Amino acid sequence: MTSDQHLRLVHAADHATRRGIDAMLVSPGPDLRYLTGYDAKPLERLTCLVLQGGKTPFMVVPALERPAAEASGVAELGIEIVTWQETEDPYAVIADRIGSHTPTLAYDNHMWAEKVLAFADAMPGAQQVLAGTVLGALRMRKSATEIDLLREAGDAIDRVHARMGEWLRPGRTERAVADDIAAAIIDEGHVAVDFVIVGSGPNGASPHHDVSDRVIGDDEPVVVDIGGTTEAGYCSDSTRTYVTGTTAPSDFSDYYAVLLHAQQAQCEYVRPGVTAASVDKVGRDIIESAGYGEAFLHRTGHGIGIETHEEPYIVDGNELVLEAGMAFSIEPGIYLAGRHGARIEDIVVCTDDGAQRLNQRPRDIGYLGG
Ligand code: ZN
Ligand code: ZN
Repeated sequence: MTSDQHLRLVHAADHATRRGIDAMLVSPGPDLRYLTGYDAKPLERLTCLVLQGGKTPFMVVPALERPAAEASGVAELGIEIVTWQETEDPYAVIADRIGSHTPTLAYDNHMWAEKVLAFADAMPGAQQVLAGTVLGALRMRKSATEIDLLREAGDAIDRVHARMGEWLRPGRTERAVADDIAAAIIDEGHVAVDFVIVGSGPNGASPHHDVSDRVIGDDEPVVVDIGGTTEAGYCSDSTRTYVTGTTAPSDFSDYYAVLLHAQQAQCEYVRPGVTAASVDKVGRDIIESAGYGEAFLHRTGHGIGIETHEEPYIVDGNELVLEAGMAFSIEPGIYLAGRHGARIEDIVVCTDDGAQRLNQRPRDIGYLGG
């Protein structure tokens, strides 16, 4: 728990009131962790934080989980813990406390459907909205403490990329390489491995390829996109593209130079006052004018924090104006189906002086041979 969390609870309740929300209902998941520090397991028994403007927040928890809730420190944030016994209906308990017959309820975006429907049954006629409209806006504006935690996560994943030559070699399968990378993600400062993508040769042309039993060849381009979560709960996510030898296919080298230029231009362009969509356009224009527009298959990036993917999304059509304190990926890619692909991904923080990259590994083709 941090002093951040006191402010977060107050801000969340204020913003909710301003949007006409009578009660914000937050079940276990990233929003609950963000607001309270309580990393509760999502289970069938209801645990739910209830935030109402001008009222003391309370958290309904199953009696058997009261010790865990207390140990997380939620009571010290001024949250009243209300326990329910196995034969009680926790939805009725919350409905009674909310009182109003037709309240406007805001559910956290990841709440299980069975819980949403149980709330709707307990409060028929209630207006139902997503809490994400309030919490997404709060979560994407990072505090200095959060930026420091994201920087630590970035340093940790950089240390894994720095060791890639230990594992990524011709003759090994993607899976064997990924297993070694996963172990290193933990060793270098994470408590969880969120994903390991090792896309060799033609598999690199599929942006969300996972791993396979394909044996990696000589002088092959390999896309390695990896991330984990640190003890403090913040995520890393960085991609580099390697070549398992000393010579890359010439068509690969050609488009890699375009990609590198695009990624650099996007990072230099980021500053407060520009839109998310315009950051995407800066890179897409460069890639399109080089003739690879159709090969850039996805948006430029996503926000990152206590989740790997959160607001702001760096995508065409998102007219959100960037502000200092927003953190997101810049990860253009070029993918030639059946041949190979490349992606360069850094997490950046928007500051008053422009983008600050949280990943520092070299961005040129990562030759691992010789
Ligand atoms: Zn990634
Ligand atoms: Zn990413």
